[in-house]
Amino acid sequence: MKVVFEQVRKLFGETVAIPSLDLTIESGEFVSLLGPSGCGKTTTLRMLAGLEQTTSGNIWIGDRNVVDLAPAARDIAMVFQSYALYPHMTVAENICYPLKKRGLAKADRATKLAEVAELLKLGALLDRKPKQLSGGQQQRVALGRALVRDPSVFLLDEPLSNLDAALRAHMRAELIELHRRLGKTMVYVTHDQLEAMTMSTRIAVMKDGVLQQFAPPAEIYNRPANAFVAGFIGTPAMTLADGILDHEGGTARLHIGEMVIELPFAVATVGPRAVSIGIRPEDVRVGTGPWAAEVRLVERTGHETILFLDAAGQSLTARLAGSVSLRAGEMVPFDLRRDRLHLFDKADGRRIEAMVADPVTA
Ligand code: ATP
Repeated sequence: MKVVFEQVRKLFGETVAIPSLDLTIESGEFVSLLGPSGCGKTTTLRMLAGLEQTTSGNIWIGDRNVVDLAPAARDIAMVFQSYALYPHMTVAENICYPLKKRGLAKADRATKLAEVAELLKLGALLDRKPKQLSGGQQQRVALGRALVRDPSVFLLDEPLSNLDAALRAHMRAELIELHRRLGKTMVYVTHDQLEAMTMSTRIAVMKDGVLQQFAPPAEIYNRPANAFVAGFIGTPAMTLADGILDHEGGTARLHIGEMVIELPFAVATVGPRAVSIGIRPEDVRVGTGPWAAEVRLVERTGHETILFLDAAGQSLTARLAGSVSLRAGEMVPFDLRRDRLHLFDKADGRRIEAMVADPVTA
């Protein structure tokens, strides 16, 4: 089912949590609402669920404007960070509870339970109580309780954040598979960009209640719409350096401190312009190149090495494959992948689009 937010505004007293949100989620999408603490992602989800009233605007689920409907009438199911299972009930009873409340006959409940248990691999656990389950198993039961209701839209609020790293990775894969099999619309709140990047069809990046970009993960990563998205997405974070963009003849040039970089593509701009230059760690080449930097810190994870560099006062993060034998204090030559630099207007942070929209091969 399609979900549409139309000029949705939310105030808490005097506080403007969401100034005006327009967002269209197509039927069957897995959309993550992603952003730093306080950006309004939970409020957005809760308004969709009906747990929070909108101040103004419309929310459509399919062809129904649901703003005045009670949560139970919205044909949604929600899974929270805290699993909120009934401790005195077995797994089977927990899962069947919404069906029992709805007055479904016992035989039909059993059929539904069997389907969901099969899908979530809960068959062997049905007679256990929640306290006899691991965190991941409890979360699967919570998912099961949402699934049996067979809603049009699933809402998930940081459902994996109580799990350890290995279980999170496992549950991520399970959720992707579940979404593929069910084909239902899912809206997922997270502040974990790895979850958003791996699971979503599109990510809605929010800041201060304002939607910054709504696009597939690869586009968010490769063409961030503004300096905020650029700095927020990617680990380690992209370097954002202050610089000046100007032209010499037909060539666009960037000045970052003492570095002058000729760009291999055209930029539609007149006169010198203050810009933020975004440089992803993997786009810094270390070992050869026209510039030199001092290694400040080396982090080795085994499969890659992260270098924190100081290039004449400009800090720069580099990511190299494998384990590299460099030490803090050493000087290294480096180069940048000039065709992969991101430019943002210094004043409003917006991406300078012409660079990407009209690339000229180097
Ligand atoms: P987090 O990741 O910390 O949960 P979030 O992105 O989900 O953050 P929200 O919980 O949606 O953010 O909050 C958005 C804004 O609205 C914040 O400024 C928050 O302080 C404010 N807010 C949320 N709920 C209330 C409330 N019940 N009363 C007053 N202000 C609120």
